[in-house]
Amino acid sequence: MIIELAEAKKNLQKKGFLDVEVDVKLDLFAEIDRLKKEKNAIILAHYYQEPDIQDVADYIGDSLGLSQQAAKTDADIIVFAGVHFMAETAKILSPQKKVLLPDLKAGCSLADSAPPELFKKFRDKYPDHIVISYINCSAGIKALSDIICTSSNAEKIIESVPKDQPIIFAPDRNLGSYLIKKTGRDMVLWNGACMVHEIFSLEKITKLKVRHPEAKIIAHPECEANVLAIADFIGSTTGLLKFTQRDDAQEYIVVTETGILHQMQKENPAKTFIPAPPNNACACNDCPHMKLNTLEKLYLCMEYEEPEITMEEGLRIAAKKPIDRMLEISAQAGL
Ligand code: SF4
Repeated sequence: MIIELAEAKKNLQKKGFLDVEVDVKLDLFAEIDRLKKEKNAIILAHYYQEPDIQDVADYIGDSLGLSQQAAKTDADIIVFAGVHFMAETAKILSPQKKVLLPDLKAGCSLADSAPPELFKKFRDKYPDHIVISYINCSAGIKALSDIICTSSNAEKIIESVPKDQPIIFAPDRNLGSYLIKKTGRDMVLWNGACMVHEIFSLEKITKLKVRHPEAKIIAHPECEANVLAIADFIGSTTGLLKFTQRDDAQEYIVVTETGILHQMQKENPAKTFIPAPPNNACACNDCPHMKLNTLEKLYLCMEYEEPEITMEEGLRIAAKKPIDRMLEISAQAGL
Protein backbone atom coordinates (compact mmCIF):
# COMPACT_ATOMS: atom_id res chain seq x y z
CA MET A 1 0.00 0.00 0.00
CA ILE A 2 2.83 2.40 0.93
CA ILE A 3 4.54 1.72 -2.42
CA GLU A 4 1.23 2.05 -4.27
CA LEU A 5 0.54 5.40 -2.57
CA ALA A 6 4.06 6.74 -3.32
CA GLU A 7 3.61 5.75 -6.97
CA ALA A 8 0.14 7.39 -7.09
CA LYS A 9 1.58 10.63 -5.66
CA LYS A 10 4.25 10.65 -8.37
CA ASN A 11 1.54 10.34 -11.02
CA LEU A 12 -0.84 12.85 -9.43
CA GLN A 13 -0.27 15.71 -11.89
CA LYS A 14 -0.46 13.40 -14.89
CA LYS A 15 -3.60 11.56 -13.79
CA GLY A 16 -5.30 14.40 -11.93
CA PHE A 17 -6.09 12.27 -8.87
CA LEU A 18 -4.48 9.73 -6.56
CA ASP A 19 -5.02 6.49 -8.42
CA VAL A 20 -5.09 4.16 -5.40
CA GLU A 21 -7.17 0.99 -5.23
CA VAL A 22 -10.23 1.48 -3.01
CA ASP A 23 -11.67 -1.56 -1.21
CA VAL A 24 -15.03 -2.22 -2.91
CA LYS A 25 -16.53 -3.26 0.44
CA LEU A 26 -15.81 0.14 1.97
CA ASP A 27 -18.94 2.15 2.79
CA LEU A 28 -17.87 5.37 1.08
CA PHE A 29 -20.78 7.38 2.49
CA ALA A 30 -19.81 6.45 6.06
CA GLU A 31 -16.09 6.98 5.37
CA ILE A 32 -16.66 10.43 3.89
CA ASP A 33 -18.81 11.34 6.86
CA ARG A 34 -16.06 10.17 9.25
CA LEU A 35 -13.40 12.17 7.38
CA LYS A 36 -15.58 15.30 7.44
CA LYS A 37 -15.77 15.13 11.24
CA GLU A 38 -12.17 14.06 11.88
CA LYS A 39 -10.68 16.74 9.64
CA ASN A 40 -13.24 19.52 10.15
CA ALA A 41 -13.86 19.44 6.41
CA ILE A 42 -16.81 20.80 4.46
CA ILE A 43 -17.94 19.49 1.08
CA LEU A 44 -19.24 22.12 -1.32
CA ALA A 45 -20.85 20.57 -4.39
CA HIS A 46 -22.12 22.08 -7.61
CA TYR A 47 -25.57 21.12 -8.88
CA TYR A 48 -23.93 19.43 -11.87
CA GLN A 49 -22.24 16.76 -9.73
CA GLU A 50 -23.47 13.16 -9.79
CA PRO A 51 -26.35 12.44 -7.34
CA ASP A 52 -24.19 10.47 -4.83
CA ILE A 53 -21.83 13.44 -4.46
CA GLN A 54 -24.75 15.85 -4.06
CA ASP A 55 -26.12 13.59 -1.31
CA VAL A 56 -22.91 13.66 0.79
CA ALA A 57 -22.34 17.41 0.34
CA ASP A 58 -22.79 19.92 3.16
CA TYR A 59 -23.85 22.56 0.71
CA ILE A 60 -25.11 22.22 -2.87
CA GLY A 61 -25.45 25.27 -5.04
CA ASP A 62 -24.51 27.23 -8.12
CA SER A 63 -21.42 29.41 -8.47
CA LEU A 64 -22.78 32.36 -6.46
CA GLY A 65 -23.94 30.28 -3.50
CA LEU A 66 -20.78 28.19 -3.52
CA SER A 67 -18.48 31.21 -3.46
CA GLN A 68 -20.54 32.78 -0.64
CA GLN A 69 -20.17 29.54 1.35
CA ALA A 70 -16.43 29.32 0.60
CA ALA A 71 -15.98 32.89 1.89
CA LYS A 72 -17.76 32.29 5.18
CA THR A 73 -16.99 28.72 6.25
CA ASP A 74 -14.97 28.05 9.40
CA ALA A 75 -13.95 24.55 8.29
CA ASP A 76 -10.22 23.78 8.02
CA ILE A 77 -10.59 21.97 4.72
CA ILE A 78 -12.85 22.84 1.80
CA VAL A 79 -13.49 19.89 -0.49
CA PHE A 80 -14.77 21.33 -3.72
CA ALA A 81 -16.85 18.91 -5.75
CA GLY A 82 -16.98 20.95 -8.91
CA VAL A 83 -14.51 22.09 -11.54
CA HIS A 84 -11.08 23.71 -11.29
CA PHE A 85 -12.09 27.40 -11.52
CA MET A 86 -14.59 26.87 -8.67
CA ALA A 87 -11.97 25.34 -6.36
CA GLU A 88 -9.62 28.17 -7.36
CA THR A 89 -12.29 30.69 -6.36
CA ALA A 90 -12.58 29.00 -2.95
CA LYS A 91 -8.79 29.24 -2.51
CA ILE A 92 -8.82 32.92 -3.56
CA LEU A 93 -11.45 33.64 -0.90
CA SER A 94 -10.07 31.40 1.86
CA PRO A 95 -6.26 31.27 1.44
CA GLN A 96 -5.65 29.97 4.97
CA LYS A 97 -7.75 26.89 4.28
CA LYS A 98 -6.73 23.74 2.48
CA VAL A 99 -8.81 23.44 -0.72
CA LEU A 100 -9.10 20.01 -2.30
CA LEU A 101 -10.52 19.06 -5.71
CA PRO A 102 -11.30 15.35 -6.33
CA ASP A 103 -9.83 15.49 -9.86
CA LEU A 104 -7.46 18.24 -10.99
CA LYS A 105 -8.41 17.57 -14.59
CA ALA A 106 -12.00 18.65 -13.95
CA GLY A 107 -11.64 21.79 -16.07
CA CYS A 108 -14.16 23.86 -17.99
CA SER A 109 -14.41 24.48 -21.73
CA LEU A 110 -15.75 27.98 -21.08
CA ALA A 111 -12.87 28.93 -18.75
CA ASP A 112 -10.42 27.43 -21.27
CA SER A 113 -11.90 29.58 -24.05
CA ALA A 114 -10.30 32.67 -22.47
CA PRO A 115 -6.49 32.34 -22.14
CA PRO A 116 -5.27 35.28 -19.98
CA GLU A 117 -2.46 36.39 -22.38
CA LEU A 118 -4.91 36.73 -25.30
CA PHE A 119 -7.57 38.31 -23.14
CA LYS A 120 -5.11 40.95 -21.88
CA LYS A 121 -4.36 42.01 -25.49
CA PHE A 122 -8.11 42.18 -26.20
CA ARG A 123 -8.77 44.23 -23.05
CA ASP A 124 -5.93 46.64 -23.90
CA LYS A 125 -7.76 47.57 -27.13
CA TYR A 126 -10.56 49.07 -25.01
CA PRO A 127 -8.74 51.16 -22.38
CA ASP A 128 -11.85 53.10 -21.32
CA HIS A 129 -13.94 49.93 -20.71
CA ILE A 130 -14.31 48.11 -17.43
CA VAL A 131 -14.30 44.31 -17.45
CA ILE A 132 -17.14 42.26 -16.02
CA SER A 133 -16.26 38.57 -16.10
CA TYR A 134 -18.49 35.61 -15.51
CA ILE A 135 -17.12 33.54 -12.63
CA ASN A 136 -16.49 30.62 -15.04
CA CYS A 137 -12.97 31.79 -15.83
CA SER A 138 -9.44 31.19 -14.56
CA ALA A 139 -7.78 33.14 -11.76
CA GLY A 140 -5.69 34.82 -14.51
CA ILE A 141 -8.84 36.26 -16.14
CA LYS A 142 -10.28 37.25 -12.77
CA ALA A 143 -7.08 39.21 -12.07
CA LEU A 144 -7.67 41.13 -15.33
CA SER A 145 -11.29 41.94 -14.41
CA ASP A 146 -12.99 44.72 -12.43
CA ILE A 147 -16.07 42.83 -11.27
CA ILE A 148 -17.00 39.15 -11.34
CA CYS A 149 -20.58 37.99 -11.82
CA THR A 150 -22.53 34.74 -11.89
CA SER A 151 -25.68 33.97 -13.84
CA SER A 152 -27.64 34.63 -10.61
CA ASN A 153 -26.42 38.20 -10.17
CA ALA A 154 -25.19 39.31 -13.63
CA GLU A 155 -28.08 41.71 -14.29
CA LYS A 156 -27.68 43.43 -10.91
CA ILE A 157 -23.91 43.69 -11.39
CA ILE A 158 -24.33 45.31 -14.82
CA GLU A 159 -27.00 47.67 -13.51
CA SER A 160 -24.63 48.75 -10.70
CA VAL A 161 -22.24 50.20 -13.30
CA PRO A 162 -22.98 53.83 -14.38
CA LYS A 163 -24.82 53.93 -17.73
CA ASP A 164 -22.10 55.95 -19.50
CA GLN A 165 -19.36 53.50 -18.48
CA PRO A 166 -18.55 51.13 -21.39
CA ILE A 167 -18.20 47.44 -20.48
CA ILE A 168 -16.35 44.38 -21.78
CA PHE A 169 -18.15 41.15 -20.86
CA ALA A 170 -16.20 37.87 -20.76
CA PRO A 171 -15.87 34.97 -21.38
CA ASP A 172 -19.34 33.68 -22.44
CA ARG A 173 -20.73 35.25 -25.63
CA ASN A 174 -24.16 33.58 -25.19
CA LEU A 175 -24.67 34.85 -21.66
CA GLY A 176 -23.28 38.23 -22.81
CA SER A 177 -25.78 38.47 -25.70
CA TYR A 178 -28.63 37.51 -23.39
CA LEU A 179 -27.56 40.20 -20.90
CA ILE A 180 -27.31 42.85 -23.63
CA LYS A 181 -30.98 42.13 -24.45
CA LYS A 182 -32.02 42.07 -20.79
CA THR A 183 -30.20 45.22 -19.64
CA GLY A 184 -30.08 47.27 -22.86
CA ARG A 185 -26.32 47.81 -22.31
CA ASP A 186 -24.20 47.55 -25.45
CA MET A 187 -21.27 45.50 -24.13
CA VAL A 188 -18.17 44.33 -26.02
CA LEU A 189 -18.14 40.51 -25.84
CA TRP A 190 -15.28 38.03 -25.64
CA ASN A 191 -15.97 35.13 -27.99
CA GLY A 192 -16.08 32.20 -25.55
CA ALA A 193 -18.71 29.52 -24.94
CA CYS A 194 -19.58 26.45 -22.87
CA MET A 195 -19.47 23.21 -24.88
CA VAL A 196 -22.35 21.75 -22.87
CA HIS A 197 -24.82 24.61 -23.28
CA GLU A 198 -23.91 25.27 -26.91
CA ILE A 199 -24.83 21.84 -28.24
CA PHE A 200 -28.49 21.69 -27.31
CA SER A 201 -30.53 20.88 -30.40
CA LEU A 202 -33.33 23.33 -31.17
CA GLU A 203 -34.88 20.78 -33.51
CA LYS A 204 -34.90 17.96 -30.94
CA ILE A 205 -36.21 20.24 -28.19
CA THR A 206 -39.01 21.40 -30.49
CA LYS A 207 -39.94 17.77 -31.26
CA LEU A 208 -39.88 16.96 -27.55
CA LYS A 209 -42.26 19.85 -26.93
CA VAL A 210 -44.67 18.45 -29.55
CA ARG A 211 -44.68 15.13 -27.66
CA HIS A 212 -45.08 16.92 -24.30
CA PRO A 213 -47.26 19.95 -25.13
CA GLU A 214 -47.92 20.78 -21.46
CA ALA A 215 -44.21 20.80 -20.53
CA LYS A 216 -42.55 24.15 -19.91
CA ILE A 217 -39.13 24.72 -21.42
CA ILE A 218 -36.70 26.14 -18.86
CA ALA A 219 -33.17 27.10 -19.95
CA HIS A 220 -29.84 28.42 -18.66
CA PRO A 221 -28.65 31.70 -20.26
CA GLU A 222 -25.40 30.05 -21.42
CA CYS A 223 -27.54 28.42 -24.18
CA GLU A 224 -27.61 29.87 -27.69
CA ALA A 225 -30.14 32.62 -28.53
CA ASN A 226 -32.35 30.35 -30.72
CA VAL A 227 -32.88 27.97 -27.79
CA LEU A 228 -33.49 30.81 -25.33
CA ALA A 229 -36.08 32.24 -27.75
CA ILE A 230 -38.39 29.23 -27.19
CA ALA A 231 -37.89 29.02 -23.41
CA ASP A 232 -40.78 29.72 -21.02
CA PHE A 233 -38.28 30.65 -18.32
CA ILE A 234 -34.57 31.54 -18.39
CA GLY A 235 -32.47 31.54 -15.23
CA SER A 236 -29.33 30.49 -13.39
CA THR A 237 -29.18 26.93 -12.11
CA THR A 238 -30.59 28.05 -8.76
CA GLY A 239 -33.12 30.24 -10.59
CA LEU A 240 -34.36 27.23 -12.59
CA LEU A 241 -34.65 25.09 -9.45
CA LYS A 242 -36.62 27.78 -7.59
CA PHE A 243 -38.87 28.29 -10.61
CA THR A 244 -39.88 24.60 -10.60
CA GLN A 245 -40.78 24.93 -6.90
CA ARG A 246 -43.07 27.94 -7.29
CA ASP A 247 -44.51 27.24 -10.75
CA ASP A 248 -47.64 25.13 -11.13
CA ALA A 249 -46.74 23.15 -14.28
CA GLN A 250 -46.30 19.38 -13.85
CA GLU A 251 -43.73 18.78 -16.59
CA TYR A 252 -40.54 20.55 -17.64
CA ILE A 253 -37.99 20.22 -20.42
CA VAL A 254 -34.76 21.24 -18.70
CA VAL A 255 -32.16 22.85 -20.96
CA THR A 256 -29.00 22.77 -18.88
CA GLU A 257 -26.60 20.17 -17.50
CA THR A 258 -28.52 17.12 -16.28
CA GLY A 259 -27.07 17.10 -12.72
CA ILE A 260 -29.66 19.67 -11.61
CA LEU A 261 -32.48 17.19 -12.29
CA HIS A 262 -31.54 15.32 -9.10
CA GLN A 263 -32.43 18.32 -6.90
CA MET A 264 -35.46 19.23 -9.03
CA GLN A 265 -36.84 15.72 -8.59
CA LYS A 266 -36.08 15.69 -4.85
CA GLU A 267 -37.81 19.05 -4.34
CA ASN A 268 -40.76 18.18 -6.60
CA PRO A 269 -41.34 14.40 -6.40
CA ALA A 270 -44.70 14.57 -8.18
CA LYS A 271 -43.41 16.52 -11.20
CA THR A 272 -41.69 15.21 -14.34
CA PHE A 273 -38.35 16.55 -15.55
CA ILE A 274 -37.12 15.76 -19.03
CA PRO A 275 -33.48 16.49 -19.90
CA ALA A 276 -33.19 18.44 -23.18
CA PRO A 277 -31.30 16.51 -25.86
CA PRO A 278 -28.04 17.73 -27.38
CA ASN A 279 -27.06 17.82 -31.03
CA ASN A 280 -25.42 14.38 -30.97
CA ALA A 281 -26.41 10.75 -30.46
CA CYS A 282 -26.94 11.11 -26.69
CA ALA A 283 -30.32 11.60 -25.03
CA CYS A 284 -29.06 13.97 -22.37
CA ASN A 285 -26.25 16.40 -21.85
CA ASP A 286 -23.66 15.83 -19.12
CA CYS A 287 -20.67 18.09 -18.57
CA PRO A 288 -17.66 15.79 -19.11
CA HIS A 289 -15.55 17.98 -16.80
CA MET A 290 -17.99 18.00 -13.89
CA LYS A 291 -18.54 14.28 -14.22
CA LEU A 292 -14.82 13.49 -13.82
CA ASN A 293 -15.44 13.71 -10.07
CA THR A 294 -16.67 10.47 -8.54
CA LEU A 295 -17.53 9.39 -5.00
CA GLU A 296 -14.30 7.31 -4.92
CA LYS A 297 -12.14 10.26 -5.95
CA LEU A 298 -13.93 12.41 -3.38
CA TYR A 299 -13.11 9.87 -0.67
CA LEU A 300 -9.47 9.57 -1.82
CA CYS A 301 -8.86 13.32 -1.84
CA MET A 302 -10.27 13.60 1.69
CA GLU A 303 -8.30 10.64 3.00
CA TYR A 304 -4.92 11.75 1.54
CA GLU A 305 -5.61 15.52 1.29
CA GLU A 306 -4.56 15.64 -2.33
CA PRO A 307 -4.90 17.03 -4.98
CA GLU A 308 -4.71 20.42 -3.34
CA ILE A 309 -5.28 23.80 -5.04
CA THR A 310 -2.38 26.19 -4.55
CA MET A 311 -1.88 29.67 -5.95
CA GLU A 312 0.80 32.34 -6.16
CA GLU A 313 -0.11 35.09 -3.63
CA GLY A 314 0.16 38.06 -6.06
CA LEU A 315 -2.28 36.39 -8.46
CA ARG A 316 -4.62 35.49 -5.60
CA ILE A 317 -4.80 39.08 -4.32
CA ALA A 318 -5.41 40.47 -7.83
CA ALA A 319 -8.12 37.87 -8.51
CA LYS A 320 -9.82 38.48 -5.15
CA LYS A 321 -10.61 42.16 -5.73
CA PRO A 322 -13.29 41.66 -8.43
CA ILE A 323 -14.82 38.73 -6.50
CA ASP A 324 -15.09 40.88 -3.35
CA ARG A 325 -16.77 43.55 -5.46
CA MET A 326 -19.29 40.96 -6.68
CA LEU A 327 -20.01 39.72 -3.15
CA GLU A 328 -20.52 43.33 -1.94
CA ILE A 329 -22.93 44.21 -4.76
CA SER A 330 -24.80 40.91 -4.28
CA ALA A 331 -25.14 41.54 -0.52
CA GLN A 332 -26.43 45.08 -1.19
CA ALA A 333 -28.97 43.68 -3.67
CA GLY A 334 -30.07 41.03 -1.13
CA LEU A 335 -28.90 38.12 -3.32
S1 SF4 B 1 -21.21 23.00 -17.91
FE1 SF4 B 1 -20.00 24.33 -19.28
S2 SF4 B 1 -19.52 26.13 -18.03
FE2 SF4 B 1 -20.16 24.48 -16.61
S3 SF4 B 1 -18.22 23.46 -16.02
FE3 SF4 B 1 -19.06 22.30 -17.78
S4 SF4 B 1 -18.04 23.25 -19.55
FE4 SF4 B 1 -17.78 24.68 -17.85
